[in-house]
Amino acid sequence: MEAIVIGGGIGGPITAMALERVGIRAVVYEAHDGPADSLGLFLGLGVNGMRVLRHLDLLDPVMRADIVPTSDMVFSSWTGKRLGVVSNGWLDPKTPSITLMRGVLQRVLAEEANARGIRIHYGKRFTDYAEQDGRVVARFDDGSETEGDILIGADGIRSRVRAAMTPGGVEPSFTGLINLGGVVPDSRMPATTGAMHMVWGRRAFFGYTVRPGGEAWWFANVGSDQEPDRRELAAVPSEQWKQRLRNLFLDDPDFIMELIDATQEIGAHPIHDMPSLRRWYRDGAVLMGDAAHAVSPSAGQGASMAMEDALVLAQCLRGAAAPRCAFTRYEELRRPRTERIVATGRRRGTYKAPKSRVAVTLRDLLMPLVFRLFVTEKSMSWIHDYQVPWEESKTGEAA
Ligand SMILES: Cc1cc2nc3c(=O)[nH]c(=O)nc-3n(C[C@H](O)[C@H](O)[C@H](O)COP(=O)(O)OP(=O)(O)OC[C@H]3O[C@@H](n4cnc5c(N)ncnc54)[C@H](O)[C@@H]3O)c2cc1C
Repeated sequence: MEAIVIGGGIGGPITAMALERVGIRAVVYEAHDGPADSLGLFLGLGVNGMRVLRHLDLLDPVMRADIVPTSDMVFSSWTGKRLGVVSNGWLDPKTPSITLMRGVLQRVLAEEANARGIRIHYGKRFTDYAEQDGRVVARFDDGSETEGDILIGADGIRSRVRAAMTPGGVEPSFTGLINLGGVVPDSRMPATTGAMHMVWGRRAFFGYTVRPGGEAWWFANVGSDQEPDRRELAAVPSEQWKQRLRNLFLDDPDFIMELIDATQEIGAHPIHDMPSLRRWYRDGAVLMGDAAHAVSPSAGQGASMAMEDALVLAQCLRGAAAPRCAFTRYEELRRPRTERIVATGRRRGTYKAPKSRVAVTLRDLLMPLVFRLFVTEKSMSWIHDYQVPWEESKTGEAA
């Protein structure tokens, strides 16, 4: 079987490498001209995603990259009161969950795919596809086309494969939050060893981690009543963001604005997730990762879900008599879990930008209780402890 994978972000190359494990040849087509460390800000990798990387012998190269161990999330309120510490989990006693630049992860995965003989064609923007005699023909905006047995849409939240599969289908839904972020090379703040710190500000949410040496990575989530235009948002100058953030973080700890003011370039993106799709596949085409079930970064699971998808999809396609049976099984296995994660991300986002003083007061009253009773390691284990049901692997172990 030959697979055409559209999207060379995070899920695409991993899918191609997982397919290679089960004897399916895959070729990846990516719209960008190449992987670039500057594509995106940072993201968290859950231990569930890291388990997939380990299974595919990808964990070591990722851990050798520029990563920040973030085994814990430390939450505090705008008054400086510590609300609780939540573990992000450890894969094993030596390997904590990590945070890294999305572009770095994308580059490492592309290098590994390359080293395994998997081709990633850059500058190839998929436009649509057709099915002919049980084969799929994918077309690109440069007029070229390619043929395979199956088409895998790993092309992210604005998936063109999804649009071609179900014209007029559902669109990503705006969560009411904008994500901003940046890097401060020398913050002069003490290292936050092993932790990502989160502050429930009075009007907005702030997260940061400081590396040994003082480099700080931060993000802020701010509310927006209207869905902003992505391009307009990206064009807002950093100085303008600083002005706006100054008002939003006015009552919050001083270091927040100090970090923001020390940032040269502030990136901004609206946060979307995907409403439930009616179906993830149609004939020879199937969706995975953000294309099927984009999750808000508030869940910290977008990349990890794409990794799990990749392994499950390969497992289902292994020796499948017909792609359709494999896709049905894949969707059955993945849909309940991913939809639960999407809902979790949505819910977590709702308290980040309270709209009134009453909402802030209520949140401040309830949060300590929530952290004590509900946000525990046990309550997170359904996310972190998940094992992809991998049968008949080379070594026979579960992923
Ligand atoms: C530029 C960019 C920056 C991001 N930054 C962050 C971030 O800072 N923090 C965070 O948590 N998440 C970020 N994300 C989302 C995060 O990468 C995903 O949630 C997660 O990795 C799931 O992976 P995925 O492979 O499903 O999608 P993605 O990683 O989004 O990969 C999709 C890939 O498909 C490519 N593509 C799209 N359309 C086409 C087309 N028509 N033809 C060919 N290729 C196409 C895209 O260029 C991209 O490389 C970013 C995504 C992108 C594309």
